[in-house]
Amino acid sequence: MVCGPQTASASKSLSDTMQHLLIEHFLVGALQMRCSVVTDLNTGDTLVIDGGEEFHRISSWIDTFEGPGPDWMNIPMSKEQWISKNLPQRKVCALVNTHAHFDHTGHIPFFLKHYNVDWYLHQDDFFLQSLAKQSAERWGFEIPEPAIPTKSFVDGQVLDLGSLKFSVLHTPGHTLGGCCLMFENHDSPNHLFVGDTIFAGSVGRTDLPDSGGDFELLASSIRNKLWSLDESTIIHPGHGPLTTIGREMATNPYVGKEAGEFGRYGFGKYA
Ligand SMILES: [Zn+2]
Ligand SMILES: [Zn+2]
Repeated sequence: MVCGPQTASASKSLSDTMQHLLIEHFLVGALQMRCSVVTDLNTGDTLVIDGGEEFHRISSWIDTFEGPGPDWMNIPMSKEQWISKNLPQRKVCALVNTHAHFDHTGHIPFFLKHYNVDWYLHQDDFFLQSLAKQSAERWGFEIPEPAIPTKSFVDGQVLDLGSLKFSVLHTPGHTLGGCCLMFENHDSPNHLFVGDTIFAGSVGRTDLPDSGGDFELLASSIRNKLWSLDESTIIHPGHGPLTTIGREMATNPYVGKEAGEFGRYGFGKYA
């Protein structure tokens, strides 16, 4: 499977008329984890972020627009619209993960088998990933033998996967290898996929087994890496509603500007 840009002329005419990043959210499994599918409409190149559950629902929508489809998308899109706009066939170029908790990685083996692409995860979460099956069992869930990442992220790395480009911010604290993935947009707010680093009005739990959770580390990751981003940046968390950098910086009770060193309620322990 070859991922890459179409001809220059096709890419120009499309980006002149519409925003080029299609983002679809699938809230999957019992924990309603947000799997995000990001597609470059100029080329059809697609990334799956956190393919944790409901593989069939997600892949059948990516491949043929069949089934119930996503819970949310930033640009209305159906099979008919795709065809009428003459958009290129979608091609999944890679799987990427914000972190290795089982609700975010449980169905990666199915995605890997189906798409035969690389799977990226920060190296500091490889150990946690090896325990995904036991972690799921503790919560009463059954998942396949955990997938082994084929590639790893490094802090500050800029990845070009197919025609999609994003940068990696290593933000440990919820897990050792937790990362936020930043997709910049030239004509509209940037998109930040944060996993369970931060939520609208909350932060990720720091008490989960084998994860290396640490509230002070998480708070300093957020303050050092996220508060310097543009305030309009849209945050796509692993659970719950969307938010923005500006809103969380102003109002988040654990790590916002008013929260103080240990958060307004003491050490954050809430997801
Ligand atoms: Zn998590
Ligand atoms: Zn989660």
